[in-house]
Amino acid sequence: MNWGPTGTAQDMLTFDPDQLSWAQREGDACVVCHKKWPRPRVRVGRLPDDSAVLACNDCAEALMPASLATVVAFPAR
Ligand SMILES: [Zn+2]
Repeated sequence: MNWGPTGTAQDMLTFDPDQLSWAQREGDACVVCHKKWPRPRVRVGRLPDDSAVLACNDCAEALMPASLATVVAFPAR
């Protein structure tokens, strides 16, 4: 695997802001289903300018089940 010199294990998806509504870009709406309430809380990626892209729990799981599973399986230290 090659994450790049500054890459972290928590690889973030980068979203194209042109595909998102302003609410989604502001983190006010789920990036997948556009729901604004309950507020999306899971950071599923980022924009090219490093803003966080948020999704609600259900969508986040659908978006990256493998990543979430990896986090959950991480041993607590
Ligand atoms: Zn959603």
